[in-house]
Amino acid sequence: MNGKLYVVATPIGNLDDITYRAINVLKEVDLIVAEDTRHTLKLLNHFNISKPLISYYKETERIKANTIIEKIKEGKNIAVVSDAGTPGISDPGEVLIKEAIKENIDVVPIPGACAAINALICSGMKTTEFVFIGFLSAKSKEKNEKLNSIKNETRTMIFYEAPHKVIDTLECMLKILGDREISIAREMTKIHEEFIRGKISEILNCLEVKGEMVIIVEGAEKSESQLELEDRNKMTLQEHYDFYQKKGYDKKEIIKLIAKDRGVNKNEIYKEFI
Ligand code: SAM
Repeated sequence: MNGKLYVVATPIGNLDDITYRAINVLKEVDLIVAEDTRHTLKLLNHFNISKPLISYYKETERIKANTIIEKIKEGKNIAVVSDAGTPGISDPGEVLIKEAIKENIDVVPIPGACAAINALICSGMKTTEFVFIGFLSAKSKEKNEKLNSIKNETRTMIFYEAPHKVIDTLECMLKILGDREISIAREMTKIHEEFIRGKISEILNCLEVKGEMVIIVEGAEKSESQLELEDRNKMTLQEHYDFYQKKGYDKKEIIKLIAKDRGVNKNEIYKEFI
């Protein structure tokens, strides 16, 4: 019988943030797959856990995934961890999880810390809808292209960034996205934890470029036409129909327009009006 693949979140700073369940799973599995075995060993030693470790990082993900899957098929239970936080979120894990699913292996989440979510909830920005962008490319052209592609994004955006690149990234954001409200979550759960909130231009003047950081960026304001569209989609179908009829459209055109507004096939709308 197949073993299971446990995806175990580990702390992003403060070791007290590990869960009881994570400790139990790490104690009980046959093997732990770790991004950096030396790093994970420190965590295991802290909790008196002794387990065989194998390394698994971005560059070897594909090759190693097969070996790990074979072991699970032999009946071994395996936990995957990254250096900090949740595996698969800007960290190795995605390939192994995909392969395990293909092989009908149970993938079990062991939830815990994730820098993105904790930075978002303390940003004071809209949390109802958000987009995770992760790391921008280090290459200037790709970085600018990505920022240009999201400049009209109205949801709150989450970026990871390395300390030595953060100033350049903020300058690019200021140039492309405009002087938005942002929140920088620095060194979360550690001694120097800090949240710096304000306009990009203000933060550029005072940011201390040290420690791990997540940048939360407020979404773009909705355009008039987006707001109007949202209003139309709150109408009943009949109200929506009347709205376009008053504007002088005929039945065929109205059905097409309603379908476009609601992002559905026009036949669906047509059926409603037969
Ligand atoms: N998988 C991890 C997670 O679940 O958050 C993220 C790993 S990614 C390689 C590392 C990035 O996460 C850092 O560059 C930083 O942007 C963010 N990060 C990790 N720990 C953090 C912390 N304690 N405070 C602020 N940002 C952190």
